[in-house]
Amino acid sequence: MRIIIFGPPGAGKGTQAKMVAEHLGIIHLSTGKMFRDAINQGTELGKLVQSIIDEGQLVPDQTVVDMVEETIASEDYSKGYILDGFPRTVEQAVAFDNMLERRNESIDVFISLHAPDEVLIQRLLSRGEGRSDDTEEKIKTRLEVYKKETAPVMEYYQQAGMFRSVDGTGTVDEIFQRILSALPKK
Ligand code: ADP
Repeated sequence: MRIIIFGPPGAGKGTQAKMVAEHLGIIHLSTGKMFRDAINQGTELGKLVQSIIDEGQLVPDQTVVDMVEETIASEDYSKGYILDGFPRTVEQAVAFDNMLERRNESIDVFISLHAPDEVLIQRLLSRGEGRSDDTEEKIKTRLEVYKKETAPVMEYYQQAGMFRSVDGTGTVDEIFQRILSALPKK
């Protein structure tokens, strides 16, 4: 199964994607985590994206698209995956569609996790992972970037018919159960 989990920063994409991946035996691909790992390892990619991520801005589309394309080409991804943090712009969504078409594949479901801004901000401020972009000012920037650049991705998938909206408030387990109910039965 190929799944996209989508939502604003703080919606719980990372937490839920990890649980869904374990449950289904598929891979969890978080573009944000890949970038943070690259930064920690001091790779060329890490050096390229560090200041962008610290500022709460988006990494250039082509950089992300190339990274995803290279990643999903690996044999491990053939059983399926859950994408967390990608596509994050309409341009990325279009590039991803083309990529899938070339591979003769498609997405089974697009899960849109939603929660009110107050809940998102509270979660990000209290998550305590020490992320350089989890300060009050950078959270504000990330939410603005989400509304302007990322939210339109939802409309793109709403037209495509595999769109599911899931309430992202409540406990981790409540949300997980809602997501499981939203997955296609197969
Ligand atoms: P969150 O959803 O909490 O903002 P992520 O781990 O998904 O956290 O992303 C962290 C940062 O990584 C983003 O603010 C952005 O700078 C960068 N990033 C991750 N995925 C993408 C993407 N698909 N396109 C552009 N930038 C990205």
